[in-house]
Amino acid sequence: MTTRTGPLFTKVALIGVGLIGASIAHAARRGGLAAHIAGHARSPETRKRAAEIGFCHSMHENPADAARDADLVILCTPVGAFAAAAQAIAPALKPGAIVTDVGSVKMAVVRDVGPHIPDGVHFIPGHPIAGTEHSGPDAGFAELFDGRWCVLTPLPGTEEAAVEKLKSFWRGCGSRVETMDPKHHDLVLAITSHVPHLIAYNIVGTADDLEQVTQSEVIKFSAGGFRDFTRIAASDPTMWRDVFLNNREAVLEILGRFSEDLSRLQRAIRWGDGDMLFDLFTRTRDIRRSIIDAGQDTASANFGRDLKKP
Ligand code: NAP
Repeated sequence: MTTRTGPLFTKVALIGVGLIGASIAHAARRGGLAAHIAGHARSPETRKRAAEIGFCHSMHENPADAARDADLVILCTPVGAFAAAAQAIAPALKPGAIVTDVGSVKMAVVRDVGPHIPDGVHFIPGHPIAGTEHSGPDAGFAELFDGRWCVLTPLPGTEEAAVEKLKSFWRGCGSRVETMDPKHHDLVLAITSHVPHLIAYNIVGTADDLEQVTQSEVIKFSAGGFRDFTRIAASDPTMWRDVFLNNREAVLEILGRFSEDLSRLQRAIRWGDGDMLFDLFTRTRDIRRSIIDAGQDTASANFGRDLKKP
């Protein structure tokens, strides 16, 4: 194993500096991974705010200016904006550069970004499985990726040295790294992230539409379980619209299974089948324990919230 003496990359470009882009910048600075971090955001307000916080060395109005001469370019906009961003930066990409992304879906990224990548540039799609319900440059923080997984989905024929270098970058940001086929990634994320978000959006929407229960009652008694759904349902609407539009196949597959299982639960309640309910709830409790044992969540009651607070 070789020991690194200087930064891993001379110039890293972040196309999009919201929660994820800003967090990458903070983590890369913490890890000394880049000599220069260039950022791009589409609105003057976000560019101004990012410059004030100061996690990038330079901010650019034009994505190509941010990407020019970079040896690592990371697409950090919502997935629906990737194709236009890739087209815009393509002429500025230097041979040998690595282009990656943080998008929550991967097949669509291969489809939308791949065709714009010039010969001699390494394209390695990626997805850090870490986030919060907050967005924008102020939401970013260096510890976001610590202990979390980052999945890379390199295409067949990708140079191994480039994949290894990108893995080192993510490890330097605090992540654990795994590689996966993009189609499999989309199925795994459909069950672990996309459908759970859809369920949260749906239950909060249903509560909002109820006529027999007032909105103030829903808010007042939310600690009964609803409150935890509202955290997820507060996630960025643009990002999540793009996730569902771009992972349609896998989400519909998992939703089909989910609906069948929900019907079984509905029947168990109607028939008074307590054994069925008890067995399922015992199994699901074990899954929660496994997540805590794997260090992916806290064992503290109520996610560590201050229980004395009203
Ligand atoms: P965010 O906080 O809303 O930031 C998005 C950034 O992209 C902002 O800089 C925004 O600039 C820019 N942007 C938005 N629309 C654009 C467009 N049409 N063209 C060019 N730039 C645009 O979003 P985020 O949470 O960082 O998510 C970014 C990516 O990370 C998404 O692809 C998402 O799938 C992925 N991801 C998110 C999470 C999560 O939990 N949030 C986790 C893992 C991966 P302006 O402010 O100027 O519009």
